[in-house]
This record gives sequence, C-alpha cells and structure tokens, in this order.
Amino acid sequence: MSDLAGRLDRCSINTATLGYQLPIGQTIEAVARAGFGAIAPWRRELEGESARLVSRRIRDAGLTVSGYCRSTYIPAASDTEFAENIEDNRRAIDDAAELGAACFVMVVGGLPQGSKDLADARRQVRDGIARLLEHAGAQNVPLAIEPLHPMYAADRACINTLRQALDLCDALDPSQTGTVGVAVDLYHVWWDPDLKTQILRAGHSKRLLGFHLCDWLVPTNDMLLDRGMMGDGVIDIHGVRRHIEASGYAGRLEVEIFSRDNWWKRPATEVLEVCAQRLQTVC
Ligand code: ZN
Repeated sequence: MSDLAGRLDRCSINTATLGYQLPIGQTIEAVARAGFGAIAPWRRELEGESARLVSRRIRDAGLTVSGYCRSTYIPAASDTEFAENIEDNRRAIDDAAELGAACFVMVVGGLPQGSKDLADARRQVRDGIARLLEHAGAQNVPLAIEPLHPMYAADRACINTLRQALDLCDALDPSQTGTVGVAVDLYHVWWDPDLKTQILRAGHSKRLLGFHLCDWLVPTNDMLLDRGMMGDGVIDIHGVRRHIEASGYAGRLEVEIFSRDNWWKRPATEVLEVCAQRLQTVC
C-alpha cells in the first residue's frame, strides 16, 4: 500500500475539524501553510461570501476542493417544504460547481417532524436525489451520498450503510454515469461487517467519491461532537485504507473531526500539525 509520509498533497482538511474558529479566508491560508493539498469547506462558511472569490482564494493558495458540505435534508412533512429542500440543494450544487468541488456531500436527512414512517423518508430521499441528478450532471458536480451511523437515522440521515447507499446509487443511475456515488466516512461505517465488500463494490462501479477520516473514541461522550483524532481510538484506519486503495480510489483523504471539548478548543495551527503527523504515521 502507498505510504503517506511526505504526501500531504494527497490529504485534505474538512474545515469542521477546525471548529469554524476562523473566517474562511484564514482557514484556507492555514490549511495551505500546513502543507495539505485540499480543503472541504462548509456552506455556513460561504454565507455572505462570493463563492467565486472563495474559489479563487482556494486556487491561489494551491489547494483543490475535495468536497463541499453539505446538502439540505431532503425528507419533508409537506410537498412545499420538499420542493424548497430540493431548490436549496440546487443552489448549493451551483456553489459546489463554482468551487470546483470533487463532490457535493449528501447528508440526506431523517424523519420529518412528527413522522414515524422511515420507509417514506427513504422514498423521499430517492425521489429528491433523482430530481437533483440532471442539475448535478449539468454542473459537473457528482453527488456523494454519505451513509451515516444508524444512531442518526431519525434526525440526520436515513441512509445508514454503504450497501444501502450503493443500492440507491444503482437504482438512481443504473448506467453508472458518475453523477452519483458515495462518501465513506470512517466514523459512520467502521463497524460494518460488510465494509470491505461494499468499498470494493463502490470502487468497481466508479462510485467512490470521498473518504473521510477520524477515529472512534471509547468511551464516546457525545453522539455528534466527540470524534477522535486518527490514532486515538479503535478504528483500524490503515486496514480500511487498504480496501480504499484496492478499490482504485484516487481522491483525497479528508480529515473530518467534530470535537467540541478537545480539538475545537485548540488553535488551528496545532490541530493541523497533529492531523499532518497522524496521517503520515497511523493512517
Ligand atoms: Zn463525513
């Protein structure tokens, strides 16, 4: 397997890792200065900014965009709200195109308020993504469906395994145009007994669009905001990366760590330094 020592150019920083402490311009500079090859910004960081100018700053810093985070949740309690969610995602895809993002990350949403109908939420997700495909194709922005750990099925994403996400891709895009695929986030899928098979399946069908790294801490103190730095938890990151590489994935290795009580309290330069060190030693 390839060695990541001296290859931070293959690695990306998802800006959530830095806890949104800095304005996007400073974040871009810090990520570039630390030697990374790419960045994955969030929509909240582009609010009130020109996507074109942010895009230029990213290029000028020598970075590419490994992904743009993330979709508005699709399932809704009414047709009007559903249509608004689709429209919102269309606009975000336009920004992703402006940024030259390698993919637009789809965190698809869970149950609409008051609903217990998970099957209906999943049907809405399928219909919603189907409505976005043409636009995403025209804008040349692949949609990366990110399966989330099942503990988020109610409120964040009702797509919960890689197999489920890939089945959805096959249904939406049987001829494998590359317009829709998956993002593999270690935090969400590391436990899955089917992980290796599904990673290879994603690679062979050209649907592997993103690879997000962090670690699973024991104990985990918060469902959302207690992700670990690579090497501090129990995920066999090196082992999973072997499957990712065997699948033919040529995209970036993107660090994505939500850590309210630890990493978000540290200066960005320190966090980036530790990310760089861990990527080159334990990943
Ligand atoms: Zn992710």
